[in-house]
Amino acid sequence: MTDLSRRVPVPARGAEERNKDFGEVALGYTEEQAMEEAGRCLHCKNRPCVEGCPVGVPIPDFLRAISEGDFEGAYRAISSASSLPAVCGRVCPQERQCEGRCTRGLRGDAVAIGALERFAADRHAACGGEDPVQEPNGRRVAVVGSGPAGLACAGELVSRGYSVTVFEALHRAGGVLVYGIPAFRLPKEVVAREVDALIRRGVKLETDSVIGRLQTVAELRAEYDAVFLGTGAGLPRFMGIEGENAVGVFSANEYLTRVNLMRAYEEDSETPVYRAKRVAVIGGGNVAMDAARCARRLGAEQVLIAYRRGREELPARREEIAHAEEEGIEFRLLTSPVRILSEDGVVTGLECVKMTLGEADASGRRRPVAEKGSEHIIGADCVIMALGTSPNPLIRQTTEGLASGADGTIAADGEGRTSLEGVFAGGDAVTGSATVILAMGAGKRAAAAIDAFLSEK
Ligand code: FAD
Ligand code: SF4
Repeated sequence: MTDLSRRVPVPARGAEERNKDFGEVALGYTEEQAMEEAGRCLHCKNRPCVEGCPVGVPIPDFLRAISEGDFEGAYRAISSASSLPAVCGRVCPQERQCEGRCTRGLRGDAVAIGALERFAADRHAACGGEDPVQEPNGRRVAVVGSGPAGLACAGELVSRGYSVTVFEALHRAGGVLVYGIPAFRLPKEVVAREVDALIRRGVKLETDSVIGRLQTVAELRAEYDAVFLGTGAGLPRFMGIEGENAVGVFSANEYLTRVNLMRAYEEDSETPVYRAKRVAVIGGGNVAMDAARCARRLGAEQVLIAYRRGREELPARREEIAHAEEEGIEFRLLTSPVRILSEDGVVTGLECVKMTLGEADASGRRRPVAEKGSEHIIGADCVIMALGTSPNPLIRQTTEGLASGADGTIAADGEGRTSLEGVFAGGDAVTGSATVILAMGAGKRAAAAIDAFLSEK
């Protein structure tokens, strides 16, 4: 008899095969596997999983549809709340959201909600599902930035009849989904599919358009009925320690952009990338896991992640941590660098100290404290800093009257209203670096606020 306390395993490529290329790691369910896994849902009356979802996807409804073989019905249910299901199914931290609240998880494995969301979205795409086109209402909105916040805002507005133009600084749309998250986690075709669907629904896309240089926000505001700023948080942080200017030290943003957006991993790529044998990545989030796993795929023999807190505190998705370990990435926990060592200006290693965890700080996490006399050297010929990011200041610097929040963010209320009438903002640009689903939720809420603002006028 089937053990319903255990989930149907999500098929994945073996570590030894996948850690040499950029093909997708998780392979996704077949129809039979998806129906069996969705059938594990208990259809709890209080729907705790839905409470755990930042955009309120009607999870039990789409699971029921899958279990009954109504895959398009499942896709419709998900799309009623989420604009990027194929993306969210792959990269959301489900274990801390919907799956973290799942009743099945109390005595066994939570229902594999993320993998089932991905299944429904991929199946819809494979079957060439139709995307509805709305009658235009005659109003025009400019969206700045094509990450999850901008795309979700554009999708919501176009479905309400607005004529939407998205301005993107880079040559490809998708934000972090294309320049940060590697193809082995989120194939670029999946992002392109979502962008193409928006274009088919009428969204205009202007790439290579840096707002603040090409046009200001004020100029856009004069030309459009409203403006949404979804410019993300792409400015990397460094530690400010000795040796950070040595050759071989990179921000994870630069390293990942070269590898992912500029496809430096391809044989005939013209993008230079630093191919080191011993790579040390500093940080413990998704960005650190991605950088480490890319370095491994680019041929590094030794890749380690130095993180100043413990395993429990690692902010990365559990699946990414497990996949990184399977691929031979070494974790040096409770370890913090104090100095980067170099010879003739080129990185040779890191001087680190051991940490212990003290009292909880304002974030509720236990504060790491350096152990006296614990200095030690880790050999490395490349160091990648994955310590978080903050918003690029260009928009604030070129937009008079736009109020700022903490750490260089744009100040906006819960519906995305900024200090300027008709200018809205959301996603990482407002919150600082967060998650895809939160950025998407912010884009959708701002679209509703833009609709209310323009309807009142
Ligand atoms: P972004 O995705 O940053 O998009 C902003 C866009 O605006 C960019 O395309 C940028 O080029 C453009 N832009 C900026 N300034 C201008 C300008 N002046 N003019 C025109 N365009 C401009 N989250 C998860 O939920 N799960 C994960 O697994 C995960 N992994 C991650 C891995 C990495 C490597 C990184 C960096 C982040 C990861 N995140 C993850 C976080 C998540 O990707 C972000 O929270 C999310 O992308 C934020 O969306 P956004 O639309 O606000 O900004
Ligand atoms: Fe189904 Fe889990 Fe949600 Fe209950 S909490 S309805 S079992 S997915």
